Amino acid sequence: MPALRDDVVGAGQPWSGVLEAGQHLRITDLEGRQGVDFLCYNADNPLERYHAPNTLKASGTLRLTTGHTLYSDEARPIMTMVADSVGGFHDTIGGCCSAHSNEMLYGVKDCPGCRENFLAALSDHGLGRRDIVPNVNFFCNVPVVNDGELAERSFVPIPGGGSHPGDHVELRAEMRTLAVISNCPQMNNPCNDGQPTPIRVEILSGT
Ligand SMILES: [Zn+2]
Repeated sequence: MPALRDDVVGAGQPWSGVLEAGQHLRITDLEGRQGVDFLCYNADNPLERYHAPNTLKASGTLRLTTGHTLYSDEARPIMTMVADSVGGFHDTIGGCCSAHSNEMLYGVKDCPGCRENFLAALSDHGLGRRDIVPNVNFFCNVPVVNDGELAERSFVPIPGGGSHPGDHVELRAEMRTLAVISNCPQMNNPCNDGQPTPIRVEILSGT
C-alpha cells in the first residue's frame, strides 16, 4: 500500500491531514508509551465531526480496537480501525490535556498541552476552539477500574497495557476526512512515560 504522505511528528508537535475516502491513516508509536490525541472531521463539512457517545454506543466498549468505527455526530462512519497492535488500550474518555487542565490537575501554570496543539492544527483549516470535542487518545492507557473510578490521575498500569516501540494503529477513511493529531507533550503524568517522543504518521493509498 503506497504511502502518499509519510511524516515524523516531533515530540509534542501537532499534525493534520486530509484523506480521501478509502485511504488509510497509520500512526506509529516509534519509541513506545507515547500518547497520541486524535480528532477527525468530515473534510467537506467540518461541522460533522467525531462523536464519542455514538462511537462508544456503537462499539459497545470503551476500548476501541480493530473493527470498530469512529462515528460522527450525525452517526455516520468517519473512520474504521483496521489495525491496532495494542489491542484496544486507547483512552476514549479523558479528552485532551491543556494549559487549563494542567493547572487544575497539577498546579503548573503556562504549561500548554494537546488542546493548544489542536488549536494550532485546526487553525490551518479555518477551525478553532468551537471545533474541539472529546477526542480519542491512542496508546494512552487510562483504565476504568471496577468501581467505576477513572484511573487517569494515578494511571494504574494494566499488565500488558501500554505501547511498545513500533506499535501502531491504522484507520480507513470512510468519507473524505480531516484528521488532526496532537503528539502529546504531557510531562506532568505518566502518559508519555515522562519523556514525549516522536511518532510517524502516514497516509496510505488504501489499495
Ligand atoms: Zn496531551
